[in-house]
Amino acid sequence: MSRTVQALVAADTSGIVRNATIERRTTRSHDVDIEIKFCGICHSDLHQLRAEWAIDNYFPMVAGHEIVGIVNSVGEAVTRYAVGDRVGVGCFVDSCRSCSSCKRGMEQYCGGCPEKKDGIHLTYNCKLKDYGGELTFGGYSTAITVDENYVVRVPDGMELSSAAPLLCAGVTLFSPLSHFGCNTLKGKEMKVGIQGFGGLGQMGVKLAVAMGVKSVTVLSRSAAKRKEAEALGAQFLLTSDAAALRREASSFDLIISTAAATYDVNRFFDLLVVDGHYCLVGLPPNGLHVNAFKIVTNRRSLVGSLIGSMKDLQDTLNFCSAHNVECDVVVLEASKVNVALADLAEGKNGTKRFVIDLKSLLP
Ligand code: NDP
Ligand code: ZN
Repeated sequence: MSRTVQALVAADTSGIVRNATIERRTTRSHDVDIEIKFCGICHSDLHQLRAEWAIDNYFPMVAGHEIVGIVNSVGEAVTRYAVGDRVGVGCFVDSCRSCSSCKRGMEQYCGGCPEKKDGIHLTYNCKLKDYGGELTFGGYSTAITVDENYVVRVPDGMELSSAAPLLCAGVTLFSPLSHFGCNTLKGKEMKVGIQGFGGLGQMGVKLAVAMGVKSVTVLSRSAAKRKEAEALGAQFLLTSDAAALRREASSFDLIISTAAATYDVNRFFDLLVVDGHYCLVGLPPNGLHVNAFKIVTNRRSLVGSLIGSMKDLQDTLNFCSAHNVECDVVVLEASKVNVALADLAEGKNGTKRFVIDLKSLLP
């Protein structure tokens, strides 16, 4: 039997959500039913609720992919989780499990396979024709049902509200920082920049510092964020300060950009050493214009990175637990979500993550 649960539902692209009910699927043998406690508000939620990206968008939409909660019940074949466990769900809830990416443990890059053509199953705004055409609904709701293989464990002692953003913002920075060796001996020699100091940026700085990276610098348009960067152990570079940018030329090994809107990316390639990497994680709806000369002439790499694998997700939570890394959050009642979405669009979240307390949505 499917279950009727409360949710914050967007009917159209206005970016407004309303309290309504949705149906969750009947529990399958490998499913875990989760009572959602908290869900972070990611800028990707805003991009999709407002249909800002050139992707298919499906309405009604229930956003939210930074989900933490408690296991309510489990299907008969579930072995990994039991009722009462503290768990999390990130940006995807299944994948084809047989393409080359899935086989290599990089489910986030699932491209689908010949038998089941569709690729990654995003947690919301996803309708997969080869899997029965079911539309996925995310974490702005009181409960969700997910295959146990796409659920992670929240370590004991972690505050659930500040753990929620680790499920997207955290892993999205943990994955490229690890990929480029920041958590190895190499990191002790690296100079790393985190561009855009919002929800993802905050996690990038905290993770890079905790990994022991030699030097971490925030690149931001907002002078008001300098103090916060320095308090976290980072340097600060105001991106409008051309002289400061010139002084730092050819010095960064890696810059990860979390910027959520279009900007002149070419100004920042000059900051990289020869063979340095500029890694995009931010997804500006209107894209970026790249001057090939800035990349080619110093053998620099322009690279992108999407969230992280299921292993990355569990590693992020375990790493944060071991190093006391938490996300600074503002916890909100469900009735404040429309204001929070509008504030996020205007950058009024500062460096913080808005997180919804789902008990406020219970009838
Ligand atoms: P936030 O709004 O919290 O932070 C984004 C930051 O981008 C702002 O704080 C600001 O930093 C910077 N910024 C905003 N506008 C501009 C602009 N015009 N030019 C340059 N910088 C700008 O968003 P999130 O951290 O939640 O998300 C950031 C981006 O990452 C979004 O596009 C989101 O969709 C994407 N994303 C990508 C993922 C992936 O897997 N690759 C996963 C999750 C999110 P400052 O004021 O310091 O300059
Ligand atoms: Zn996200």
